[in-house]
Amino acid sequence: MSTKTREKSSEEKHEFQAEVAKLLHLMVHSVYSERDVFLRELISNAADACDKLRYEAISKPKILTGDTDLEITITADKKAKTLTISDNGIGMNHDELIDNLGTIARSGTKAFMDAVAAGKDKSGDVNLIGQFGVGFYSAFMVADTVEVRSRRAGEKAGWLWTSDGTGSFTLTEDDTAPARGTAITLNIKKDDKEFLEGFRIEKIVRDYSDHVAIPIKLIEMEKGKPGEERQVNEASALWTRAKKDITKDQYREFFGHVSGLFGDPAVTIHYRAEGRHEYQVLLFVPAEKPYDLYDPERRGRQKLYVRKVFISEDAEILPPWLRFVRGVIDSEDMPLNISREMLQNNPIVGQIRKAVTKRVLNELKKFAKKDEQAYAGVWSSVGPVLKEGIYEDMERRDELFELARFTTTASTDEVPLRTLADYVAGMKENQTAIYYITGDEADAISASPQLEGFRARGVEVLLLSDPIDSFWTTTALGYEGKPFRSITQGAADLDAIEAEKSDEKDKKDKETDNEATSALITAMKTALGDSVSDVRESKRLTDSPVCLIAGDGGLDRNLEKLLSRQQAPGVQKSAPILEINPSHGLLQVLASQAKAGSDVALIEDASRLLLDQAFILDGEPVSDPTDFAKRMTSVMQRAFGS
Ligand code: ADP
Repeated sequence: MSTKTREKSSEEKHEFQAEVAKLLHLMVHSVYSERDVFLRELISNAADACDKLRYEAISKPKILTGDTDLEITITADKKAKTLTISDNGIGMNHDELIDNLGTIARSGTKAFMDAVAAGKDKSGDVNLIGQFGVGFYSAFMVADTVEVRSRRAGEKAGWLWTSDGTGSFTLTEDDTAPARGTAITLNIKKDDKEFLEGFRIEKIVRDYSDHVAIPIKLIEMEKGKPGEERQVNEASALWTRAKKDITKDQYREFFGHVSGLFGDPAVTIHYRAEGRHEYQVLLFVPAEKPYDLYDPERRGRQKLYVRKVFISEDAEILPPWLRFVRGVIDSEDMPLNISREMLQNNPIVGQIRKAVTKRVLNELKKFAKKDEQAYAGVWSSVGPVLKEGIYEDMERRDELFELARFTTTASTDEVPLRTLADYVAGMKENQTAIYYITGDEADAISASPQLEGFRARGVEVLLLSDPIDSFWTTTALGYEGKPFRSITQGAADLDAIEAEKSDEKDKKDKETDNEATSALITAMKTALGDSVSDVRESKRLTDSPVCLIAGDGGLDRNLEKLLSRQQAPGVQKSAPILEINPSHGLLQVLASQAKAGSDVALIEDASRLLLDQAFILDGEPVSDPTDFAKRMTSVMQRAFGS
């Protein structure tokens, strides 16, 4: 909230919230090549204000009285060096002016600030501006001072908000405000006079705001008198126009408007549904990640209109796992007076949700078939969100499995992502399950010792590094009758599958002294006590000495890690099973020591160190660093004979 000091009885002075001041500083002091976005932002706000008025008028028709034609007017006055953008929309009252134009509420603006702070955009923030849209405050890119006159629909008082963008703004009751709505006057900077030229304004509107469904009119002041008014946009909602009449540029511009993203969408889905319910759909699948993709609210961002009247920005027409799909759905037969709260349970919304979800999935499948490489790009941006659907939506699971792509041990530079169909086609004789390993980082998992035995047999393993992977794998029943099985849990049923490379086979078949191995296992169990739930011989190791495995009954180790990190109730970390590789040289030496019953202290040190090493390889800390260091020193001392 801004802080306020009263100067005169009618004029209030308010400080901007610290973040706003920072943002403004950025706007004023950076040289953007794309300063013209300010007009798009102000027009977009004006159009939203008209949409809000229309929505409110459904329940309070009186607020429209006397002025039913909603429009946006841009007035350019070269002599006075002012540009005024006015609308007869909802308007703002005293408190709304303070809240809306003194603080930052919108996640997009916050994301923009964060990205600038993180220095993500080395090219000078230009793309960031385009990507995020920074709203009202962008006016200060081209204006020395900004005056906002506004009167809230249905209220008597009008207000004047003014600021030069350097830390504070003033607010006064003022009757020059429009009868209803908002007029924003920019006192244009000396270097930005181009924005007072009619042709320039017209071009910006056509480039950025042509889709706005409300008429945008331009008036050029000549010698203090208004010249002829002309409409500079098409003013018909883009989604109601025929596909053939819409250019690629117009789609791109509209996509930018609904997604806040730059460039072309990956997939454009534009159709009219007829039949039991009639509605128009214009949705986009972005080629890159929307900035709010991991917003904890996971809300859908599709706009709902009823017969071209805007109803809701996030009506959740699509399930949360399709929240990256942006655009508009305009229903012909929903009641206009539907409240936002009622949408959840509305049967028409339910039916539209089902049909549109299906359509989106089909379009994604088609897109993947047409251009696998481009699809792979989309998957790498939004795949983790689609995987939430595998976890949550039984009904769509098989379709989502078809869309899913995985990095696996069979991935190559040419074909980095594999499908489950590829996996099943490449299964080995006697292989009954689809194997996977989960972890935090792709590189670390692909180097996991647990993979060795699978690699040796040419058995493909899915390398899963998204947090959601630990969840869907536990519920999914399987793909084409093949269950999913974690390679870090339970017994490895690899015996039935032939090893591929003969030397690997030799290694496995190398004589090991069974009696010595059993003696070592017993000694290690004693040394490790409660830290492990078992020590046993491994089927999955060929090169490494040891690895950790979760017991059959419990949770997968990575899932357990995730849950305990989130402090999920009832999750207690269980002791893992330590698997050992008896054909490894180090363990053979230890085994013969154990059999001979000599040097119990060495076996204890080695057991502890091997366990700690297995934890480290799994991306976990050692349980007692001091103990670890001591034992390491002691073993090294022995090795170097000091
Ligand atoms: P955003 O539009 O992304 O929310 P802005 O900084 O552009 O962020 O605007 C902040 C808020 O100010 C808007 O959400 C809206 O409530 C209000 N606002 C801005 N312009 C207008 C306008 N012309 N009429 C009514 N309200 C407006």
